[in-house]
Amino acid sequence: MSTEKNNIWTDACKQLKGILSGDIYDRWIAVIQCLDISGNTMRLAVANDFYKDWLEENYFPMIRKAVMVVSGKEMDISLEVDSNCFNGSKEEAEPEHHNTISLTNLSLGGKKTTHNLNPNYTFDSYVVGNSNQFPHAAGLAAANSPSRTYNPLFLYGGVGLGKTHLMQAIGNHVAVKKPRAKLCYITCESFTNEYIEALQNNSVSAFRKKYRKIDMLMIDDIQFLDGKARLQEEFFHTFNALFESHKQVVLTSDRTPSEMAGLAPRLISRFEWGLVTEIGKPDVETRTAILRKKAELLNLHIDHDLLNYLAERISSNIRSLEGALIRVATYISLTNQHVDVAKVEELLHDLLDKESQGSISVDIIQRTVAEYFDLRHSDILGKKRSKDISWPRQIAMHLSRTMTTQSFPVIGEAFSRNHATILYANEQVAEKAKEDRALQQTIAILKDKVNKNCAMAVK
Ligand code: ADP
Ligand code: MG
Repeated sequence: MSTEKNNIWTDACKQLKGILSGDIYDRWIAVIQCLDISGNTMRLAVANDFYKDWLEENYFPMIRKAVMVVSGKEMDISLEVDSNCFNGSKEEAEPEHHNTISLTNLSLGGKKTTHNLNPNYTFDSYVVGNSNQFPHAAGLAAANSPSRTYNPLFLYGGVGLGKTHLMQAIGNHVAVKKPRAKLCYITCESFTNEYIEALQNNSVSAFRKKYRKIDMLMIDDIQFLDGKARLQEEFFHTFNALFESHKQVVLTSDRTPSEMAGLAPRLISRFEWGLVTEIGKPDVETRTAILRKKAELLNLHIDHDLLNYLAERISSNIRSLEGALIRVATYISLTNQHVDVAKVEELLHDLLDKESQGSISVDIIQRTVAEYFDLRHSDILGKKRSKDISWPRQIAMHLSRTMTTQSFPVIGEAFSRNHATILYANEQVAEKAKEDRALQQTIAILKDKVNKNCAMAVK
């Protein structure tokens, strides 16, 4: 690659160094290698999937902007995995480095793996509010006394609400307290791929051995098991082996065990043995606290008024909130211009549009439920009390409460009822669903339909 071209990347790095704190720069940007620049495309590479995912999720807009500023044009940037790249292992030599932990290698079947934890996902950086108070306390208890409190610990909740962060905080906590413990964090998708590979290579027994000698197994997004019978069978035995030898299992999912329609009943019951707890949507105070914490961790200096504004406007999930923060911070540091609310609206117009349209509405819930039960929308809103209408109506009320962030009185208005009616219906349905598997599945199906209908309404 010519030096002139290479300068684009070196200059972009200088820009990024100016924006990010030294620690963050060293950890996330210095490990990137520029493979090639030709025409309008730039190929970057990092050592493994973990870096790739994290960079794509968190720093890509910032990198793109920096490249645009130094090259004067918008470039197509790709990020590849190349195991020859520097993998940041300098940290292993400096375990005391602020805000990092060394990744202890877990030697399995001769192949070296790490327990894959993101060192930034700690309890310290996890903000606790009404929406996650209980899962946080349960996570801390499991981290302090693995396998003696909640086993398995099953964390569920919507996208971008902090399941992975909390799960890894548990892992990082144990890694510091018990450096010799064999920890394994893996996404269910990778777990599945590994199993399929083991089947292809006739190495299932090595696969089993590997997972059965772990002290703490964390599987992220376990809903991926849904409908995969053979994998469930394998996981069932792994789970039993770990459970019987008092090893901690932590699982996350976007739904409760019983809402996984294609999950074998014996696995559902295993998952419910320990504690099933929901991470909900954070209220505006928690969102503000999270933004302040992120700004502090990333060493970003942004007016509190602006942070409050972002927290008010972006409520769907924390990942979007973080993306917005990074975008605003990048703009400020690259242009050195003052940013006011009008400018933020311009910078984030796509995100803000999505926020205002994408949220789940009570109206769509009512229509979805009506269609599913072969009723008219007006039946759901009407006063008829026959069971075949009043029961779907109550389900719609329950879904409105659980799928939106609306208060009981606001939902009441949408049904032309008072708030007590909604409260009662919500409890009735939730209570019945505890025992009634068929109802649980109906609710799961309806949630899927509502999500699809809302997504279609946005398009
Ligand atoms: P999920 O796994 O539920 O999709 P993640 O754990 O990946 O969500 O969280 C998305 C982003 O939001 C991450 O960068 C995470 O650090 C951040 N986040 C989520 N919850 C919190 C919290 N309570 N405090 C601080 N940051 C949070
Ligand atoms: Mg996750």
